[in-house]
Amino acid sequence: MYRIRFHGRGGQGIKTAGRLLGTAFFLAGYEVQDAPVYGAERRGAPVFSYVRADRAPIFERGVIREADLVVVADDSLVAVPAAGVLKGITGHTVLFILSTVEAGVWQDRLNFPGRVLTLPPPAAGLPAGSPCAGAAARLTGVIDEAGLERALRQELGGLPEAVVALNLREALQAYGAMAAHTGCVRQGGAVSPADCAAPDWIELPLETADTAAPAIHRPLTSLAARTGLWRTLKPVIDYGRCKRCWWVCSGFCPDGAIAVGPDGTPRIDYDHCKGCMICLAQCPPHAIEAVPEREEAAI
Ligand code: SF4
Ligand code: SF4
Repeated sequence: MYRIRFHGRGGQGIKTAGRLLGTAFFLAGYEVQDAPVYGAERRGAPVFSYVRADRAPIFERGVIREADLVVVADDSLVAVPAAGVLKGITGHTVLFILSTVEAGVWQDRLNFPGRVLTLPPPAAGLPAGSPCAGAAARLTGVIDEAGLERALRQELGGLPEAVVALNLREALQAYGAMAAHTGCVRQGGAVSPADCAAPDWIELPLETADTAAPAIHRPLTSLAARTGLWRTLKPVIDYGRCKRCWWVCSGFCPDGAIAVGPDGTPRIDYDHCKGCMICLAQCPPHAIEAVPEREEAAI
């Protein structure tokens, strides 16, 4: 059975990548499971999706513990333990990262036991999910180009043709770029329940309602969660264009991350701005620009 995980951030098309690959496997005659996993948070939060594919019926359920292939759309997630990119990695696992950093550097940096492959990420504004699915399809060696295209057209068929064409181009480019590694992902063996460690049950002590009630009474705890780490795009205010209007940007920010100073100037708290770009969409004189975090980091 193939067990494949896609990791990325909300908004990068990770759910779509799983669906594309799942459908491509299905069209190639495989039994398939594909599912995304994410919480209540939105754009920029770490998310993952997974795909199982086998010629026989699949009875395994739940998230994949040991993946044959791990695909990472955003290399900043590798170092985030909560993202779980390196969970269940073995010498059998192939790690594919969209990154400008070379594979050998990742291999050393992570002391990675399996094979590492990289491909430069698409330019800002281009989809990351489609190239991830295209590369994964090639690495399995069992999905041909026509099957990948059929799957993509089936999954994205409701979108305008220009969007479908763009995604197809990105997927096929990644598919082609991985030609030298065709079939390097090998199927993992069957997992028996006996191979899995029993969960560590936690005995919860009986607590009174004032302790156990699902409410947080302590103030300002959200300050400790630096959601700014999730951002892929950074809103930057051009103070030459900002009219200090009635602070639409501040009013619409769902995270309260834009404060207005005594002189009426809006200031973004980048520790807690998660890059949803609502402020950019709402600003009447278009004084807010979206700058990719990668470009910011390079400055
Ligand atoms: S909405 Fe735009 S113009 Fe108004 S305060 Fe915010 S950045 Fe300035
Ligand atoms: S500052 Fe803008 S981009 Fe950041 S969270 Fe608020 S509305 Fe979203």
